[in-house]
Amino acid sequence: MIPDFLKSPPLGKPWLLYAFLGTSLVLNLTLAFQGDDASTEMAVATAAPAEAVAQVATIAPEAPNVAIPPELVPPLPEPLGVTRRAGTTVFSAPVQGSLSATFQNAPSASPAALSAVYSRLFVWDIDVRRDLHKGDRVDVLFEENEGAEPLVLAARLTLNPGASTERVVDAFRYQAQGDRFASYWSTDGTEVPRRLIDGPLGDYEQITSLLKDRPTHEGMDFKTPIGSDVLAPRAAKVLRVNWNHAANGNCIELRFTDGATAKFLHLNENDVKEGQSVTAGEVIARSGNTGRSTGPHLHYQIEKGGRVVDPVDYHGTLRRKLPAELMADFGKKSAELGAQLETEVATAM
Ligand SMILES: [Zn+2]
Repeated sequence: MIPDFLKSPPLGKPWLLYAFLGTSLVLNLTLAFQGDDASTEMAVATAAPAEAVAQVATIAPEAPNVAIPPELVPPLPEPLGVTRRAGTTVFSAPVQGSLSATFQNAPSASPAALSAVYSRLFVWDIDVRRDLHKGDRVDVLFEENEGAEPLVLAARLTLNPGASTERVVDAFRYQAQGDRFASYWSTDGTEVPRRLIDGPLGDYEQITSLLKDRPTHEGMDFKTPIGSDVLAPRAAKVLRVNWNHAANGNCIELRFTDGATAKFLHLNENDVKEGQSVTAGEVIARSGNTGRSTGPHLHYQIEKGGRVVDPVDYHGTLRRKLPAELMADFGKKSAELGAQLETEVATAM
């Protein structure tokens, strides 16, 4: 029994209601498309969000007519601040409690997934659990394609809007010349997501899971196509390969000269053997989607003295700047995206 209002666009997908179950820990979400190796442990640690999103992802393509128990059907008013153009949607809303609660009524097949993708952009600048307050504002321009997580084209987070302490963080999707993937850049041409210094991949689509967001998951996940070169970040000795293959898939563990170890999981092909020495920057494998992984990605995990260490702390991070010669082009494209992002604001006045 599905109420009629759930059948009409854009809410014509009752399974989207599963997303409403996951409204607490935004960054603990595992998106089926970003891939993850620790879904089992996650399900234990954060049962509701993990299961909620996993269900959206799993049943979305085949099961649009799953019956929703009446008690799970929340009121779904059409949120204010929604504008649609061909292919893209703008969602603007004041922050209500958590970020996932703020996105709860977003006009998306999976508001929880949209919330997670949005928060991934700003997690480098703010603690989305502590620093967000009621009345702060989110704006996001996105498009959705079946079978993929929402693609954010532009996003803005405004803290303390209207106050003297107002702070606006923008992120515009833009592919810099010479980069293999588009990334997100703020108005002044600074890259929004940080990068590890001498990390395990030369380039990648996005870091989709940070240790601090999900401590039960012991590594960092890089979304990257199968076949991406995986590098030894530092000179090292190969400790072991392909242990616990069912979960890890093809995998490598290195010991760096300082004693820290690094694990690389879900690889497509290994190029190294146990006992071998490798130099910093040497290609040791091709990334993949093997073992317990739901999408092409590299899981990278550091341990030292028997403890898991955050790769962000171990490597340090940097932020790239767009080269000056790209700023005119970026300025034009980000202005177009910014104008679309502000469509709703303009029409609402
Ligand atoms: Zn992982």
